[in-house]
Amino acid sequence: MKNVHVVVEKNIRNAVSMNNKKCCMCDRIVYEGPKCIFHCAKDTWLRNKQWDENKCRDFWYEYGDVVSDFYTKEVDLSNTIFPHYLIGDPNLIFPVDMYDPEGLGREDPYVTFYRPINFSGSIFLGKVDFQFYKFKGVNFKDVIFIEDVSFKNCIFDQEENIIKKDPRDNQSTYIPAEPMESAFTNASFFTNVDFRNSKFSSSVSFNNAAIIKDIIFTDVTFKNKVTFHNLNRRLKLNKSKFIFNNTKFLKLADFWNASFFNISFNKTDFEEIVVFTDTIFLTYFAFKYTRFEKQLIFNRTKIMDGFDLYEAIFSSGNVVFTDIKFQGQAKHKETYRLIKFLLEKRANYIEADDYYVREMKMYRKESFSKNKLNWILLAFGKVISNYGNSWILPVFWMIFSSLMIFFYMYLHEFTKFSLLSLSWMEPENINIFPPFIECLSSKEFLNFLNPFSRGTIDNGSVFSNYYWAWSSQKIISAIGMYHLIVALKRKTRR
Ligand SMILES: [Zn+2]
Repeated sequence: MKNVHVVVEKNIRNAVSMNNKKCCMCDRIVYEGPKCIFHCAKDTWLRNKQWDENKCRDFWYEYGDVVSDFYTKEVDLSNTIFPHYLIGDPNLIFPVDMYDPEGLGREDPYVTFYRPINFSGSIFLGKVDFQFYKFKGVNFKDVIFIEDVSFKNCIFDQEENIIKKDPRDNQSTYIPAEPMESAFTNASFFTNVDFRNSKFSSSVSFNNAAIIKDIIFTDVTFKNKVTFHNLNRRLKLNKSKFIFNNTKFLKLADFWNASFFNISFNKTDFEEIVVFTDTIFLTYFAFKYTRFEKQLIFNRTKIMDGFDLYEAIFSSGNVVFTDIKFQGQAKHKETYRLIKFLLEKRANYIEADDYYVREMKMYRKESFSKNKLNWILLAFGKVISNYGNSWILPVFWMIFSSLMIFFYMYLHEFTKFSLLSLSWMEPENINIFPPFIECLSSKEFLNFLNPFSRGTIDNGSVFSNYYWAWSSQKIISAIGMYHLIVALKRKTRR
């Protein structure tokens, strides 16, 4: 039925084509203006949200005619403007099987294009349904999808090698197929894209593509390398959503310089190298039950709102994590511990210390409700040396505490001020009340400050009665010295 219709249409067209001009872009006859039915603008086909059904039907018959040769010829549909597809017309082969869109009743559910098909530069004005298409070399370069597009259950393969037989001597000629990636390079998706349950056997490029809304890669397998270079970088406002759920990347996955607004990885396997160099993540994301078999590269990556690694599985532990801008917070301290561990493994101690501080900060916050004693210890560690990360802080505390205790001794000695009774007595003789600055610059204070000196409480000293002050200053100094040594050791690790 379908074929009969196509043949009749073709004959009519051939009959009238004698007098007709050719399209300015191809060899077909003109349909509207100077262009054929594929290349004309179609801006008058949609009026008051109603498509011109007759014109749409003309288009899809012509389309069916062109792709009916797909067994033998490469199909060139470049720069075509695709109108709305008329749902419910059984003569149309786009999508191929209207009555069985899930392909359940067919032995081979796929509609196979045996030769490459080229959609480059085309615009799809209406919804597009490519379910159960098997492409052997497909080019969606510079394509614009205005409405939702479904690539569910598709297979993206390479062109196969061709064996031609010469009928005269039965000799076979082997023509190897050129390696061809499935290209979505520079494509623009204005609404949702769904690749659910599809397989990419060829390599695939989403380089420079723009995803405006949601893109779903649930149950997708990438058997060859996939690149997302510069993805969404040309969008001024990025609100897209990427879903990788049960996705398998068997070869290189390269997200170099891509920009992600909302991205989720769940039960995703990366069997080869994953590159997030110069990638920007605008909101929080996590690698949930995601497995990294070989190498994970975070290089100059910008994480603007935190992320979590703690549920990821590292088979090799080979993670490059350098020059990361990590803003926001991880939700689990294990993420920081893991990053610290990975950095230390590569002897990047300076950056590792930063993640150690973040880990301890989170641990302190958690222990506030769980273990108060731990919390006090951690809070103390934070105050005295930022968890052994600052050498300035312990030096400051040693000098500051000595000054305070010395000042108290000074007040007590010369004014009989006492904290215990909060009493204050005017000095009996103003002449033996030396100014505090003078006291500080005396040998007395230097002796007091020096953790190895007993000078202050030696007999003959003004402060020889202040054993309690001397011992508490020594205890504080010992703690300060310990933290100072830890911090200096950290800073000078090689
Ligand atoms: Zn044309």
